[in-house]
Amino acid sequence: MTQIMQHHGCRSHMRDRNRLTGLEDRFDLVVDSNDAILEKVGILLDEASGVSRTQQPVMPAGYQPPKIVVSSWNRRGGERRDETFHLLHAKNIQRPQLKFKEKVDNSNTPFVSKIFIKPNAVKPLPSYFANKHIRKERPEDLDVPAALADFIHQQRTQEHVDDMFSHPYQYELDHLVMPESLKCKPDVQMYKPLAESTCQFIYTLDDLVALNEKLAKVSEFAVDLEHHSYRSFLGITCLMQISTREEDFIIDTLELRSEMYILNETFTDPAIVKVFHGADSDIEWLQKDFGLYVVSMFDTHHAARCLNLGRNSLDHLLKVYCSVNSDKRYQLADWRIRPLPDQMLKYAQADTHYLLYVYDRVRADLYDMGNGQPTLIQQVWDKSRDLSLKKYVKPIFTEDSYMELYRKQKKSFNTQQLAAFRLLYAWRDKLGREEDESTGYILPNHMMMKIAEELPKEPQGIIACCNPTPPLVRQQINELHQLIKQARETPLLKAEVLAEKRKSMTPKRKPQTILFGPHDTSRSSESDFLDLSSFETPTKPGVLFSEEEDESVNQEGKSLHGLIASAKISLFAEEAAAAPAHLTVAQQKAHSIMESFENPFRMYLPSKDIHISKNAKYDPSSKIYEIHNRWKLQSIAQQQKEAQEKQQAKEQAKKAQEERKKAKLSYQESLQNVHTVRQQVAEAKQAGQKRERAASDAGEESIKPKMKVSKTESETSVADQSTKPAQKKKKQKKAQEPEVPEQDFKPFDYSQSNFKMFDGKSKESSQFDPNRQAHGPKQKKKGQKKNAVGGRSMSYVPAKSDRGFRHNWPKR
Ligand code: AMP
Ligand code: MN
Ligand code: ZN
Repeated sequence: MTQIMQHHGCRSHMRDRNRLTGLEDRFDLVVDSNDAILEKVGILLDEASGVSRTQQPVMPAGYQPPKIVVSSWNRRGGERRDETFHLLHAKNIQRPQLKFKEKVDNSNTPFVSKIFIKPNAVKPLPSYFANKHIRKERPEDLDVPAALADFIHQQRTQEHVDDMFSHPYQYELDHLVMPESLKCKPDVQMYKPLAESTCQFIYTLDDLVALNEKLAKVSEFAVDLEHHSYRSFLGITCLMQISTREEDFIIDTLELRSEMYILNETFTDPAIVKVFHGADSDIEWLQKDFGLYVVSMFDTHHAARCLNLGRNSLDHLLKVYCSVNSDKRYQLADWRIRPLPDQMLKYAQADTHYLLYVYDRVRADLYDMGNGQPTLIQQVWDKSRDLSLKKYVKPIFTEDSYMELYRKQKKSFNTQQLAAFRLLYAWRDKLGREEDESTGYILPNHMMMKIAEELPKEPQGIIACCNPTPPLVRQQINELHQLIKQARETPLLKAEVLAEKRKSMTPKRKPQTILFGPHDTSRSSESDFLDLSSFETPTKPGVLFSEEEDESVNQEGKSLHGLIASAKISLFAEEAAAAPAHLTVAQQKAHSIMESFENPFRMYLPSKDIHISKNAKYDPSSKIYEIHNRWKLQSIAQQQKEAQEKQQAKEQAKKAQEERKKAKLSYQESLQNVHTVRQQVAEAKQAGQKRERAASDAGEESIKPKMKVSKTESETSVADQSTKPAQKKKKQKKAQEPEVPEQDFKPFDYSQSNFKMFDGKSKESSQFDPNRQAHGPKQKKKGQKKNAVGGRSMSYVPAKSDRGFRHNWPKR
């Protein structure tokens, strides 16, 4: 069984006791293998019936690939052995990357040109490139990718930045003039029949040099490239076809990859016209793989467009001008195959064989179409020159890359799905760069979307999303499972939770939800809020600040059972807001509670600044942003009301100047009696009975001035509806924060509250965590446990690091 499983590239650790513990695991392995084998059967049957389900390159009929098993690639020997994968099924084509003299640079750094010699230079090559080969020899740069070494070097020397990323032939192309020979009507030169033409396959440096010398003697030649992009991260140029008027050549660019640069001598010679068809990609591939540039190019694709030929493809041009029915069957062939089958060679040859003839014909047509003027030819020439100026740009992974792909899809994801998508995207990108595989090979987009959408709980669910399962998905299924698990732990936005709830069941809405405080920002609403009841006295379960006691103070004496005041603890408020007088009773009370809560205990609360990253407030994906915005809206409304009330308050303030003086005295006195919270609690409890009586007896003034109260208590413990405490309070505020407007003060009786949340325990964490507060202690423990398992912080972290590309993938 192990042999069969290995043959099919499946995990096969049947006898490895360290890896597998039980029968169940072994059984899973067998099931996985059966799935994989049956999938292959399905694919093969599909292919046989003409339904190709994969985008994998086609092979010529009857082609027998050499039996090569590849284990690893693109690695420098020695180091990082633990990260090396052993992928057994490289589709039996030897990875050409293995033989590259210069290792592929998939690092997440910008592409820097490979050029180090600049033939046909009008402006010399910047010293940065000219000295590149010397730098490469420096031992300290040997163990980092080439581009990174260059980048480090550039950082060290703080120069060459412009040179590094500029087009080496920018100046020459800017000053390029179309040759005189193109300005008149061309003599069309017939192509040789393909069957009679010789086609030289070039795979040695000597032959390449000889070819270059031949090319230097002609006035134009045609060029095309074949490229492979499935089993490589950046893609590989596998072939270059060149045709002169007399001969065709096919260069094995896998073999001569590092020597191709010598062709710059002819490719950048402005006197030699290079004819391409649709050179957009070719220009980039030439730079990426060989450091080749093109000066003096004519693109027949742009000529076709200019001529309005309806279709601009090469096969259409060949049909129109050469009456040749070209067979584009091998366009997507796997061009890495060696030795190349005859059919593929013939196909490749045909791509350039007719091109110079087409070049003549389209120029003639352009000339005619331009009424005997070379304007249209010039137009195509200019377009082609612009194309030559194109620079290869390496795909760079950023923490937002996944959003580009996400936006292209039609699906709308919730926070968890999007988190999964982000994590999968990062995983895929990292693995692709490491293993030098395309992202499409590692995990095709549609599979990635499906996994993110379904968030499978089990590894098997991930496998089920992928048909056929990509080998690296199968191999790294546990890593992927962890990523999905991590995504599932991402808190949902409140709206998403509600939507989710609505889907599953009808929620029992309680009246409390209307007046929700700013703390209920997390995954769930009332139930979590009610968890705070554990902090409260047992007689008032589920209510943070009950209105009942205060209602007794109210003249109507009416109780509003079950009403929750929005406890606006202004941890997030930018400035302290004063209580407006014309709010509803409940709102006023809520406000005074907040006020009395805020001021006396602020010093015992976590600092206002330490717990929230400033950036988080502005990051729309963060919870704080949501809270903060909601808060802002509330405070704006309040501020408007407050502006009106300021006037009234000022008048009241005048009336009560005397009381203010008293209050000042009392305040100064109280300052000398600042006790610990415990002492205050004790005092409050002592005074509790007294004040309860006082509270029911509104208007009685005698208690407050006589009481020796601490700074904090002076504000909170006195139940007095007269303006006196307000004045006193104002004074206090003046002492602390000068700009707070005057207001009516309705103190809250803290003697009835549970002070546990302010005693020493509340200080054990200096980190504020809205989730934790909202979830209550039960959830908190759960979250922490998850942290330990998932290695990902559940508490609030600044958005940057939260979304950043994490390099701590589990090592295999
Ligand atoms: P061509 O210029 O037609 O010879 O194509 C050059 C290379 O472009 C091929 O070797 C393929 O790698 C790639 N290519 C061409 N056409 C397509 C296509 N329709 N889809 C994807 N890749 C293509
Ligand atoms: Mn092409
Ligand atoms: Zn081609």
